Amino acid sequence: MMDFASLPLTELIRPEGFDCPCGKHHVCAMDYLAIGPGVISQVPDMVRAMGCQKPFVVCDQNTYEAAGEKVAALLRAAGIETVLYIIPCAGQKIAPAEWEVGSVLMHYDPSCDLLLGVGSGVVNDICKVVGNALGKKSAIVGTAPSMDGYASNSSAMEINHVKMTLFNRAPKGILLDTDILCRAPMRMLWAGLGDMAAKYIALCEWRMSHIVTGEYYCEEVAALMRAALKKVVDAAEGIPQRKPAAIQSIAEGLVISGIAMAFAEISRPASGTEHYFSHMWEMMALERNQPYDLHGIQVGIGTVLMLKMYRKFRQITPDEKQAEAYWQQMTPEKWEAQIRRIFGKTAPEIMEMERQGKKNDPAAHRERLQRIITHWDGIMAAVSEELPDEKKLRALLEKTGMPTKPSQIGISVEDTVNAFVGARDARLKYLSCTLLWDLGLTDEFAAYLAQVAEE
Ligand SMILES: [Zn+2]
Ligand SMILES: [Zn+2]
Repeated sequence: MMDFASLPLTELIRPEGFDCPCGKHHVCAMDYLAIGPGVISQVPDMVRAMGCQKPFVVCDQNTYEAAGEKVAALLRAAGIETVLYIIPCAGQKIAPAEWEVGSVLMHYDPSCDLLLGVGSGVVNDICKVVGNALGKKSAIVGTAPSMDGYASNSSAMEINHVKMTLFNRAPKGILLDTDILCRAPMRMLWAGLGDMAAKYIALCEWRMSHIVTGEYYCEEVAALMRAALKKVVDAAEGIPQRKPAAIQSIAEGLVISGIAMAFAEISRPASGTEHYFSHMWEMMALERNQPYDLHGIQVGIGTVLMLKMYRKFRQITPDEKQAEAYWQQMTPEKWEAQIRRIFGKTAPEIMEMERQGKKNDPAAHRERLQRIITHWDGIMAAVSEELPDEKKLRALLEKTGMPTKPSQIGISVEDTVNAFVGARDARLKYLSCTLLWDLGLTDEFAAYLAQVAEE
């Protein structure tokens, strides 16, 4: 037993990593990590610990005011030559897109040796992409505990107006000063809680996939994630008052989530079907050229929606005949028409993914169905052991003031149902929505979702 949860964060990121009973060597090597009040003053130490001499500091106007100005001043006062670049945004939010990446690249000073972002998700993702392209390390001084991408090696980017995940490299330095995070917009604090609450569903569905598809699973990594989640939930009541303990536990939880993903080398510890509501809603918004809400806000709503779905999920008795019948009527033509309807201009990519992944292959389906039926008790155990009490969690989230229904962020029931139906095809990841398809229950659950989405 590794008991990762009992280790201090600085130990989790040790360069030599850990040999785990699961057979994997877990490693998330970072040069510097500090979370707590006043840690911004450690920024010169972080740069030195990273072996860097001249950071290129990237922020936007908001994050410049929140911390960027101070970061540059601290570095210069410590005798570290620093170039500062503020991404112009003309009163709007910056996007994780080509223009911003190009803007940073064009202004980059090649004599710098570190991309030092000051901001949260978007700035960090841009710095990861640019750092990767230039072969330089990146680091981040966080300004909001809003998402779990701080320590992750992927960036959620808009490419040609389509949201995609790019795998590049994780930041080697992270400073999360809770005095600064405390002052983040309340919506960003809610988003951090939403991205953490998602882990209930993520862990449940990771186990489900392990049972049905034999996908790799590590109980030690799952336990680390569970413990971080518990701390966040225990402290969450303090979010509206911006209590330091609440902010600290969210910041730690989000970083641990990144570490857990690095350990497992997959996003499983951190994301399940609830994340697909967010992916699908963002895709729809980009397709319609409309704005979309913060990742963690969408994911928090996705989590509440999934807890409603799991109410019905618990009532299932797997029925082989029903599964076969559903699946017979779902001809390739019918499936393609559904993909075109839900995915719009992303449809060709989704169909290509199916050609490679062959989820719809009858023999593979039959095999999964047999495993589901044989191991139904194990699947139910994952559901009852991982998921929280729906009412309690919902009450907790509502108490913080955060949105919990799609309509509160301008999303219709129709888009919610389409997001659920499309989620199974959006990636090749085995989720509860994939399992429902395998059981021939997608339509039934979609109809149920339409009833309960706004309750
Ligand atoms: Zn392991
Ligand atoms: Zn997330």
